[in-house]
Amino acid sequence: MTNSYYRDGKKKVDFVPYKGEKMDTCATIHDEYVCCNVKVLKSVSNCPFDCSYCFLQNYLTNPQLEVVDDITRLMQEIEIKTTAQPWRFFRIGTWELGDSLALEEQTGQAKQLIEHFKDIPNAVLELKTKSNVVDPILDCVHHQKTVVSWSMNTPFIIDTEEHKTASFDERITAIKKVVDAGYLVGLHFDPMILYSDWKQDYLKCLDACRNVLPPEHVAWISIGSLRFNPEQKRLIENNFRGSDITCQEMVKGSDNKMRYVKPMRIQMYQHMMANIRRLWGENAFVYLCMERWDIWDKVMDIQPRSIGELDFMFADYFHTTFPTINPQIPNIDLYKKYQST
Ligand code: SF4
Repeated sequence: MTNSYYRDGKKKVDFVPYKGEKMDTCATIHDEYVCCNVKVLKSVSNCPFDCSYCFLQNYLTNPQLEVVDDITRLMQEIEIKTTAQPWRFFRIGTWELGDSLALEEQTGQAKQLIEHFKDIPNAVLELKTKSNVVDPILDCVHHQKTVVSWSMNTPFIIDTEEHKTASFDERITAIKKVVDAGYLVGLHFDPMILYSDWKQDYLKCLDACRNVLPPEHVAWISIGSLRFNPEQKRLIENNFRGSDITCQEMVKGSDNKMRYVKPMRIQMYQHMMANIRRLWGENAFVYLCMERWDIWDKVMDIQPRSIGELDFMFADYFHTTFPTINPQIPNIDLYKKYQST
């Protein structure tokens, strides 16, 4: 998608009717990786922000920024699907094709979803954002059935690669606000991006997050590193002439995505893991995004052997740590048997 075509679609929001199924499994799920089996609700398509590494520039065939305006139909689909698998603890995010909160002042969509999710017995909603638009949801009745998540990065990466998003300090202030409003929070240090001061900057980033996020408000923390497929590399270089994120040594994985070489990724993840454990303790649920078993074995203190097992671990963690959110004892056999659904 060329520079102007891609960006023109971001300028104006179109409200569109509900058409076809909107809930699905995260598109990056792949049998050769330890994926978490998160579900996605495609209620938003495209994003007002302009991150250099954004996969949407290569993924969307229609660049128009669209929001589904029929919450009743969206919720009917979610209720049918969550009722059909009552044994499963669903995590459902609205972020796959855009940002969950960036447009909230115009759409009010997140607020309506929060109010519905509070009554679904076996699901939590994940609102993932790079914005600081949280004021519209602070007064919602949520019963902690919504996790407000931030894609966090260092101030340097935010300033140079995540164009038009909230600044680092604005995101930290927003985290504090939702914690004070009683929400659980997710942090996604993803994509970690290499540059000369990465090590000390990611450490400062973790410290600042910990200052506003106590362990008892952490839903989950994920870590991942920059990845893109070969076609996207050319788009990044065309659309973001000032960016040098494609210049590091990378290798192609069996999912056709380029990543930093394995020893480098291991070093990055070990740095994060050691400091996440130091800051949030042994109990915080931490996982890697789109990595294989061998990396998990070197970096993580949990080692799920399948997608079903990692999905089960989320359910079990919530049942143990937040029993009012997931009161049901999860059955690992069902998570393994139906891991592809
Ligand atoms: S916030 Fe997410 S969806 Fe929006 S431009 Fe950045 S990477 Fe893409």
